[in-house]
Amino acid sequence: MTNDDRAPLDLAYRHAIDYLGGLRERPVGATADLGRLLELFGGPMPAGPAPAVDTVELLGRAVAEGGVPAASGPRFFGYVTGGTLPVAIAADWLVAAWDQTASLYNLAPAISVAEHVAAEWIVDLFGLPEGTSVGFPTGCTMAHLTALAAARHHLLAKAGWDVERYGLPGAPEVTIVGGAQRHMTIDLALRYLGFGSGRVLVVPVDERGRMRPDALAETLAGREGPIIVCAQVGDVNSGAIDPVGEISDIAHRYDAWVHVDGAFGLWAAASPELRPLVAGVEKADSWACDAHKWLNVPYDCGIVMIAHPEAHRGAMLNERAGYLPPGTPGERDAIEWVPDFSRRARSLPVWAALRTLGKSGVADLVERCCALTRRFAEQLATVPGVEALNDVVLNQVMVRFGDDDALTRDVIARIQGSGVCWFGGTTWYGRAAMRVSVVSWQTTEEDVDRSVEVVRAAVAAATQHSARQGVPLPS
Ligand SMILES: *Cc1c(COP(=O)(O)O)cnc(C)c1O
Repeated sequence: MTNDDRAPLDLAYRHAIDYLGGLRERPVGATADLGRLLELFGGPMPAGPAPAVDTVELLGRAVAEGGVPAASGPRFFGYVTGGTLPVAIAADWLVAAWDQTASLYNLAPAISVAEHVAAEWIVDLFGLPEGTSVGFPTGCTMAHLTALAAARHHLLAKAGWDVERYGLPGAPEVTIVGGAQRHMTIDLALRYLGFGSGRVLVVPVDERGRMRPDALAETLAGREGPIIVCAQVGDVNSGAIDPVGEISDIAHRYDAWVHVDGAFGLWAAASPELRPLVAGVEKADSWACDAHKWLNVPYDCGIVMIAHPEAHRGAMLNERAGYLPPGTPGERDAIEWVPDFSRRARSLPVWAALRTLGKSGVADLVERCCALTRRFAEQLATVPGVEALNDVVLNQVMVRFGDDDALTRDVIARIQGSGVCWFGGTTWYGRAAMRVSVVSWQTTEEDVDRSVEVVRAAVAAATQHSARQGVPLPS
């Protein structure tokens, strides 16, 4: 390797360390100007080569321009993005440097073994049935796609239909059932699989947003043929957890397949303290989860887990092209468990995070975020005009301010503009709300306290502003 080859890597390393070192005090929201970024990166494609260090330097300048917000920092509470553990970043650097085709054991044996071990650890950590197969697709959406394809394979094979060969035209109809608060990515996966999202039989939820088992029983009553029930562990707004045990008991009377969206909420299963919240979750047939959220590994990494490995494999790669090795027992070939063919070794940071945290470290990460969320809820309750919209079950708080949506939206915009912390907006039963997700290993009590003070100031300013506009003050 020449010095010229090393230089961009050394520079990128320095930029990365600077970025991570400044994460705690960097503006949390994006401050970039679209035009400036286009100028920085754009123009006509260069006619010829340029020094690689200049290119890396441009990337560094994108940070200075505010184009790289501190979304993996300690005070980003929007969505459920999660931070990044240093060891997971380190492993991800090696993923890029090693550039292994992490699809076949004989192409990337070390990756294959790390993935095999990570898969076994995950099944044990979540308390899933022995023999559950695991794949690492890009995210939870693709985990849904993989799991629902396995469900389709399993149910239609039982009905005597080879869906991989003949597709859905002419197949027995598959009934799809989902809770009213299901995440939109379930519908996306249903679309991609040709089920259509418009045919979901929607089961009403209770006041907390949980699927009602009695309503599910009513929906299923008298139904025959293949049925898939989509449940959820961790609503993205409220954190609400469907009673998966009860749902599975009811669904299995109809030989239905139960799929669980546990993008972040399934991590509760890894904590002895929180496990009771997801009691019975192991009764389902498949689970989708994200490592890039609560496990704090870099994007992109989802986890799909399936209690019927033969259906999992049957729905993915079940026939190999002649130029591929036939597969050897004990040697994990990832192409059997995910929709990707060539793929990066995204499971390596998962292995590294689990290896470094250990069981108690994962539990501690999850429990700490939940404790900080309760602190948020308690302190937000002291802000004038605040209304709590959920009971804190996991790491989500949802509130609104005053009685008109405009005030809540104004408060959120002011907080997002502060640069100190970031909260997202949402609509909950038709009303504007602000949502808080605590998902970073770096967040401390001081971060929560500091952020609540920003909220308090934003509410005061927004209230004064709306009072001047003649809108009544919140009581
Ligand atoms: C984030 C999320 C998803 C989608 O996951 P991706 O990794 O973004 O594909 C699905 N369901 C829930 C509950 C989520 O929070």
